[in-house]
Amino acid sequence: MNRFYIWTIGCQMNKSDSERLALELGQLGLQQVQVVEEADIIVLNSCAVRQNAEDKVLNKLSNLKALKRKYPETILALTGCMVDSNIDDMKERFPHIDFFLKPRNFDDLLTHTKKHSTPLTQTIPSTHSQSATAFVPIIQGCNNFCSYCIVPYRRGREKSRPMGEIVDDIQQLAGEGTREITLLGQNVDSYGNDLPGKPDLADLLQELNQIDNLARIRFLTSHPKDMSQKLIEAIAFLEKVCEHISLPAQSGDNETLAAMRRGSTIEQYTELVDRIRATIPDVALSNDIIVGFPNETQDQFQRTFDLLEKYQFDTVHVAAYSPRPGTIAARKLEDNVAPEDKQSRLRQVEELQERISTNKNQLLLGHTVEVLVEGHKGERWQSRTRSDKLVFFEHENDCLGQLVQVRIDHTGPWSLRGSPAMESNLNVG
Ligand code: SAH
Ligand code: SF4
Repeated sequence: MNRFYIWTIGCQMNKSDSERLALELGQLGLQQVQVVEEADIIVLNSCAVRQNAEDKVLNKLSNLKALKRKYPETILALTGCMVDSNIDDMKERFPHIDFFLKPRNFDDLLTHTKKHSTPLTQTIPSTHSQSATAFVPIIQGCNNFCSYCIVPYRRGREKSRPMGEIVDDIQQLAGEGTREITLLGQNVDSYGNDLPGKPDLADLLQELNQIDNLARIRFLTSHPKDMSQKLIEAIAFLEKVCEHISLPAQSGDNETLAAMRRGSTIEQYTELVDRIRATIPDVALSNDIIVGFPNETQDQFQRTFDLLEKYQFDTVHVAAYSPRPGTIAARKLEDNVAPEDKQSRLRQVEELQERISTNKNQLLLGHTVEVLVEGHKGERWQSRTRSDKLVFFEHENDCLGQLVQVRIDHTGPWSLRGSPAMESNLNVG
């Protein structure tokens, strides 16, 4: 037993959890493979936030049945938000799965692997694989219980990691060549509430801003009801903290927001957006929206549409409401918006946002922007601006991890293309 394969779906937190599992299996001397049939251990890291994500996982689970019949020795594990507390039921539903691991609780699989593996290599890989960018979880779980959301049920209550531990981790990453880190949490704005002395996200950013070699710091997701003025000012004044905030409104209508249990009104949300824009010039804001929430009328949807049109966000992730078993909305509210209305509202938001993003990106045509190179796609280097816009450019040198000045010569709704500015020397900046 010496090769493993991990399939991941869902949010950045899942991606980060999969990276951690890969690292721990790697430290036991196992090798990660990209072809499922070559693996002795197969892990599915699942998402339950919407039915369509769950359906994709169910499809994978059923494909694995045939594989298990053919290779009964293969170990199959399911982790992520689909694993709930009733593991006995899950064992009955999916008898071919050997391990059900709650999010981030990989111990059973690791103990089994330690006992049964015959490592391919004795060399312990370094604690982190080298890459220009990395996700770093700072707070697990969520205390909010928005009525539609399954996350608090599957990931538990908020638990912040001590500040010293996070700083040490990021110092190590930066020492190994990571230039940008994204701090992760379901609600990063409540970081530290459960820690002695209650340090907050602004305090953490202040510490991280001093780390040598680190060029950029990002974080997500912010909850509008918890975003403090101190944090807004930290983003404005700390030079490594990028001017990009993920600030989900979910709806532009107060009645819907109350039924969603978001804890604030649309007036509070727009006041916050105005204040952020006044304090942080050129800030980029992204938004999450749910359309077709129970009882959402055409007028209520229109308020969401008007909010997006008026406030011109840089990115909008829109989803049709999907009832999640066990949540307050699924228990108390009928999923009564017709599927065709949900789809039509979804399309309207997508089309509006495509227009907005196209126009916003066009403003950058001919301008020179600073990007951090995070990898390549085909012949081109893939990079991002501080405001999280994706920029592709060509250059024969190895640009990975470098800050480069790029002159934008082509724009679209989702990405930009350009060429390194003449004076750009492609030095690590
Ligand atoms: N903690 C973050 C993200 C939570 S899940 C936050 O508070 O925004 C990511 C996104 O999935 C949410 O922002 C929401 O827009 C969407 N989502 C969550 N539950 C959903 C559901 N039941 N139906 C449709 N979309 C949902
Ligand atoms: Fe879910 Fe709301 Fe918590 Fe985000 S803040 S994870 S939407 S309960």
